[in-house]
Amino acid sequence: MQICLDRLTGITKVDHNTGLVTVRGGTTLAQLNTLLAAEGLAQENLGDIDKQTISGAISTGTHGTGAKFGGLATQVRQLTLITADGVQLRCSATEHPDIYAAACIGLGALGVISEVTFQCVPSFSLHAQETRAPLDAVLDGLDAMVAENDHVDVHWFPHSDGAQIKCNNRISDDEARDRLPRWRYLLDDELMSNGLFEAVNRLGWLLPSLVPSINRISARTVAARDFTDHSYAVFTSPRRVRFKESEYAIPRESVVPVLRELRSWIDDHDERICFPVQIRVAAADDIWLSTAYQRETGYIAVHHYFKIDHRRYFAAFESIVGEHQGRPHWGKLHTLEADQLCLLYPRFDHFRQIRDRLDPGRTFDNAYLRSVLGSP
Ligand SMILES: Cc1cc2nc3c(=O)[nH]c(=O)nc-3n(C[C@H](O)[C@H](O)[C@H](O)COP(=O)(O)OP(=O)(O)OC[C@H]3O[C@@H](n4cnc5c(N)ncnc54)[C@H](O)[C@@H]3O)c2cc1C
Repeated sequence: MQICLDRLTGITKVDHNTGLVTVRGGTTLAQLNTLLAAEGLAQENLGDIDKQTISGAISTGTHGTGAKFGGLATQVRQLTLITADGVQLRCSATEHPDIYAAACIGLGALGVISEVTFQCVPSFSLHAQETRAPLDAVLDGLDAMVAENDHVDVHWFPHSDGAQIKCNNRISDDEARDRLPRWRYLLDDELMSNGLFEAVNRLGWLLPSLVPSINRISARTVAARDFTDHSYAVFTSPRRVRFKESEYAIPRESVVPVLRELRSWIDDHDERICFPVQIRVAAADDIWLSTAYQRETGYIAVHHYFKIDHRRYFAAFESIVGEHQGRPHWGKLHTLEADQLCLLYPRFDHFRQIRDRLDPGRTFDNAYLRSVLGSP
């Protein structure tokens, strides 16, 4: 049985003094961004898209990028859960703090999130600078780049030396004067990043031997851009090309070695990969099942066009990040099970105890939860 919260949406409370905003569980990030903008507020950080519900996004540990910023769940200050026995349970740092630490990234295992209170910030804009550079130069300068910019996002084109670098820095709305003209947005974000990218992936799927050349051209022709816009308009963008993805969180210092190992594996095998490898960072946090739990984190994500068998590439990736205490994104493809995950999360058993307390009859059980949390 699947519960649809599509009609449980909207803001129920805004406190302009504290920036605390309470939102119904089925609200999508896109809806929330628009509602917050009307209040002069914003979410501190966001991931790449805004289609998810706030509950789905936080429950799976959705994150953006930025060494000083945590994932979306770190913005949560209070949650209301409908538990298996039908009780409405509110939790926060002061009210059922153990449930709060578990439920901020709860995988849907603890109850239905009906309401979330987020710590928001005054609305702001981002100055986006997008360039390209050789991967080795990016890796050599990664620490400095991450320290000097608020939000760094790197996309490396496999089979090539080229990478796209996106550095977004926070500015006030008043300073944001260089919006992209509509035609440029349509050209870059719709035509190039979606329409043309779909065509490129289809071509690579039909003629894999062309992929290295395609990627080298893509890496050379990636658009250099410099613009400003509302934070949510820069953080998120439309994604219409279907793909499969695996993403792992690793200690920040492992990012460069993991990428070098991944590049060697790709060079040594006849796997053809059209999709760029994405590199992001996040601050450590204290949420029990957060992929950034108590460690400064780097995220590496690998993708394949949805028509391509991903198993060999993703297995190789998993074995590389496995050597670096990699924690898989809860909402993306991975093969780790409870006995491996419990070694990666110091509070894993505490999470399972909370689950036993809140859902002893396993009302919220499913195949995925049996695999990652163990059965019964
Ligand atoms: C194109 C694309 C881009 C993405 N970019 C990023 C990114 O930049 N960063 C990132 O970290 N992730 C990213 N993701 C992953 C994404 O953020 C989420 O992990 C995933 O999509 C979950 O959100 P959803 O609304 O689709 O949730 P659903 O699929 O509806 O839910 C996911 C899970 O959350 C739980 N859940 C949902 N609603 C509730 C509720 N009300 N109460 C309790 N539990 C609930 C359930 O366990 C459910 O199985 C991306 C995904 C896609 C498809």
